[in-house]
Amino acid sequence: MTDSVRHHATGLTAEELPAYIYDLTALREHAAAVRTALPERVELYYAAKANPGAPLLRALRDAVDGYEVSSGGELAHVRAAVPGAPLAFGGPGKTPAEIAAALDAGVHRWHVESEQELHRLAAALADRPQARTVDVLLRVNLPVGEGALDAVALAMGGRPTPFGLDPDQAEECVRLLTGGGPLGRQLLLRGVHAHLASGLAAAEQLAVAERIVEWSAALADRHGFPLEEVNIGGGMAVDYDDPAARFDWTAFGEGLAKLLDAHPGLRLRTEPGRALTAHCGWYATEVLDVKRSHGEDFAVVRGGTHHLRTPATRGHSQPFEVLPVDAWPHPWPRPAVTTGRATLAGQLCTPKDVLARAAKEADGLRTADRVLFAMAGAYAWNISHHEFLMHPHPGFHYLGE
Ligand SMILES: *Cc1c(COP(=O)(O)O)cnc(C)c1O
Repeated sequence: MTDSVRHHATGLTAEELPAYIYDLTALREHAAAVRTALPERVELYYAAKANPGAPLLRALRDAVDGYEVSSGGELAHVRAAVPGAPLAFGGPGKTPAEIAAALDAGVHRWHVESEQELHRLAAALADRPQARTVDVLLRVNLPVGEGALDAVALAMGGRPTPFGLDPDQAEECVRLLTGGGPLGRQLLLRGVHAHLASGLAAAEQLAVAERIVEWSAALADRHGFPLEEVNIGGGMAVDYDDPAARFDWTAFGEGLAKLLDAHPGLRLRTEPGRALTAHCGWYATEVLDVKRSHGEDFAVVRGGTHHLRTPATRGHSQPFEVLPVDAWPHPWPRPAVTTGRATLAGQLCTPKDVLARAAKEADGLRTADRVLFAMAGAYAWNISHHEFLMHPHPGFHYLGE
């Protein structure tokens, strides 16, 4: 935990908890280091869905080349937060209204998810008064579970999903775009996009990137179109069991540099979300009660998984640090953890509202001590079910804005 986060969390009153605290200075430093680790011919986009908080988007502006958005809502929000920043627009099931809005916003790259989407996009373009073209990448769902990648847990590629085009469908789309037909005059095929997996360490990410680039280069060769760009997706691992660990951006950058050496003229793009912002956010709260239940200690904290759904979604224990509060102004005994471990639960009336299970770090934890959950900067508040049980929303604090 940085000193500024600790200091800020200590200074909040109990009624100001729970609160999300973001260290934007740490975020800027981290993002700058990531940018430095990547070769010049690799563009860095931030996947806004990981955390679209406007102060975070602005803090990332100097380090990133653009933002990846996956809905009309994200598009409008990111446009307003960082005006003029290049946008890549992806996601399955784009509506006609979203397509029209994205055309008006002049997005930099379209990640096309299906053959029908090519037609929808061309039809929307034809409706615009001034004749225009757009730059597209075909999103492909490649099988990558071969050889070295057998052990990798793939979430989105190489198996049935609603995302992207199967390789044979991609071939058909390339024919439609490069065969001299009407679609190809409006939609300019720049290359390929693939986001196949998440939670990969650097060596596995590189193996996936190589596979995507080799496949894309072969596709371009077969159809005789110049392959200008390949977007290799996001999904860089973070380790919720080890908050101090970081994805090895240096090794990743060196590997990408080698890959680029083999493909002169090619531009790569990567679009991480979680690995950029997860570590800069903290969910700060306090212990309201400590209870013994059938032999186990439970510490109930202000807030819960309706604010920080990440541990419930992923089935992990969210890492945390304790800020002891020594003052105890009440005449009654102070409930505390005495069994050497405790489960940290929230205020919701459901057994699923668990932030950390049987945690040894909770040994000795007392009512009114503060608990700061780490790695709450990505897929945290914005994926949570805020209205369930109608508790107040947390505060939001952006340090170093
Ligand atoms: C979610 C997503 C990302 C970001 O994934 P992370 O695991 O947060 O890095 C990037 N690209 C696409 C298409 C996505 O859907």
